Amino acid sequence: MLRCPLVVGNWKMNGLIETAQDLVDRVQAGISDREGRQRMCEVVVCPPYTALHTINSRLGESALKLGGQNMGVEVEGAFTGEVSGIMLRNCGCRYVILGHSERRALFGETDEMVSWKVKSAFRDGLNPIVCVGEELAERERGETLQVVERQFLAVLPSLPESPAKRPALVLAYEPVWAIGTGKTATPAQVQEVHHYLRGLLKKHLPDTADKVRILYGGSIKPSNAAEILAQEDVDGGLIGGAALNANDFLDIVDAIPDLT
Ligand code: PEP
Repeated sequence: MLRCPLVVGNWKMNGLIETAQDLVDRVQAGISDREGRQRMCEVVVCPPYTALHTINSRLGESALKLGGQNMGVEVEGAFTGEVSGIMLRNCGCRYVILGHSERRALFGETDEMVSWKVKSAFRDGLNPIVCVGEELAERERGETLQVVERQFLAVLPSLPESPAKRPALVLAYEPVWAIGTGKTATPAQVQEVHHYLRGLLKKHLPDTADKVRILYGGSIKPSNAAEILAQEDVDGGLIGGAALNANDFLDIVDAIPDLT
């Protein structure tokens, strides 16, 4: 097996300390049960920054991992409001979501800024989960593959020179029109874009293309997860709304095809 499946919960701006603790305790308990069944799958939750430290101290030796939802480019200094990759590491994070469409649309993040952050994430020892995806109008104009290619090519120069370090990269295909809308891309639409991204990886990073995981995100829920996660080039999911309900999130983890 080249790639270990990965399921990531993006809690967005949801959860005070107490509710975050409760949610992570439920997810962690479910993950422990699943470890007993030898399930081979990495599971990550990305709570708000304010809950990271508390949650990290509850995780202990748990198989459940932590991630940030964004990060600043610099290590430290006069950057009011920013949180650095080193700070995320200090709170136990191993992953960081970068270039989420909400960051791009609501906070003006450009392809170039996402690329800077990818470079910083590798510098700081975090696995970047780089989100790419088209808006509805772009899909309707037939530009989906061009858009994801542009977003992918923008981060290429920020990847480490050493092929051994590049498999830390994770791509997440998240069609903007499917995020938080209840509209899910069809399995065929998902597979088409994932296959295209795999081809781009093979073309530009031939040594590591088969090791980079490509997640799908966009209104995944227990009822549609199995079909999407079964697609050949889908290595897991980035889950928003459904990650706020422990049972739904664990059902999605269970929908990962069995690895035999
Ligand atoms: C997301 O925000 O990354 C996401 C996929 O959200 P949702 O699952 O709610 O569509």
